[in-house]
Amino acid sequence: MSTPEPAALPATGAPASPDARAEIVVDLDAIRDNVATLRARVGDAAMMTVVKADGYGHGLVESGRAARAGGADWLGTAVIEEALALRAAGDTGPILTWLTVPGEDYTRPVEAGVDLTAYTVREVDEIAAAARALGVRARVQLKVDTGLSRGGATAEDWPALVAAAADAEQVGALRVTGIWSHFACSDEPDHPANDAQEKAFVHALQVVDAVGIEPEVRHLSNSAGALLRPWSSYDLVRCGIAAYGLSPAPDVVTSAELGLVPAMTVRARLALVKHVPAGASVSYGHGWTAPRDTFLGLVPAGYGDGVPRHASSTAHVLAGGRQRQVAGRVCMDQLVLDLGDDELAAGDPVVLFGSGRDGAPTAQDWAEACGTISYEIVTRIGGRFVRRHVSKELRNA
Ligand SMILES: *Cc1c(COP(=O)(O)O)cnc(C)c1O
Repeated sequence: MSTPEPAALPATGAPASPDARAEIVVDLDAIRDNVATLRARVGDAAMMTVVKADGYGHGLVESGRAARAGGADWLGTAVIEEALALRAAGDTGPILTWLTVPGEDYTRPVEAGVDLTAYTVREVDEIAAAARALGVRARVQLKVDTGLSRGGATAEDWPALVAAAADAEQVGALRVTGIWSHFACSDEPDHPANDAQEKAFVHALQVVDAVGIEPEVRHLSNSAGALLRPWSSYDLVRCGIAAYGLSPAPDVVTSAELGLVPAMTVRARLALVKHVPAGASVSYGHGWTAPRDTFLGLVPAGYGDGVPRHASSTAHVLAGGRQRQVAGRVCMDQLVLDLGDDELAAGDPVVLFGSGRDGAPTAQDWAEACGTISYEIVTRIGGRFVRRHVSKELRNA
């Protein structure tokens, strides 16, 4: 991490910037504390905080800094550009990245000391060529597909990948720093796939052992694995969603039960409040009709800002101290709330979702209303929302 500079961030709990039409407030102290909480839970395993996809919508660099402050030994990103952005922002710690296409420029990540993941012999060859051209050893982790059937080498292709990596290590082109895999069903702890995948992982590790490769880290678990299968942690766990304060397995355990605090609050100000009579129908398609005379509040945020259209007539928003239902369809730029008898004023603040501590819904509540997972709610929100990072203690270095 770079040296802290004087604080340049408003304190947590500061009122919404009075003029903001619609903003995303990210509590960096919550991310830091969630990482520390997770770290304490997983015992001896090292902690990787996954900050891909702009830190699940919370900000790549800011989330990475907060995670390091909470004790993250590693940061994880999907693509190389994300890892290089962390380096450009001054992060000097271990970073793993895991998704490339043929012909990517491996020179920059190898130079930057970023761990790359190889799924295939071709990738090992391309990375080794970049390392030889630079005259350095690349840091490469090998991924085995133990049953997710997504990235990684199949069991059939695994021995050839391991052999190619061992050869490249022998000639000094790279060092195999890790062996890893990824669960398909870790949010369902009783699913038989979990044990089957772990068995396949153990077998893959034996293949690695047999050729004399000694990786620094062996790892299998994401947030749900880390929390619900602690015996599967090996040397390292890769926690994404839990670091942002959301439960990876909401059917099993809530974020509050895990001691985690959702870090993202999405808020806006009412653009307009009006009174309509019983029978008035609201928004496109007239999908919602007022059952009684009621006040309606217009919120200046819509699917153009990542508010799911599936929230139409189902999700709730905190306004005037109570949760109000979205009335009718979410539009591109706006949505309407049913305020009942409460005549709120244009300009009044509303909270779409937040920490859950002030009576507002959480991203998990929105996920349930929209038939998705909290990951998608926080990662997709954006558009014209202004994002602001707050912290009592972390510095905006
Ligand atoms: C996204 C991702 C993670 C983090 O998963 P969470 O469920 O958010 O903890 C871990 N490992 C890999 C390979 C991933 O792609």
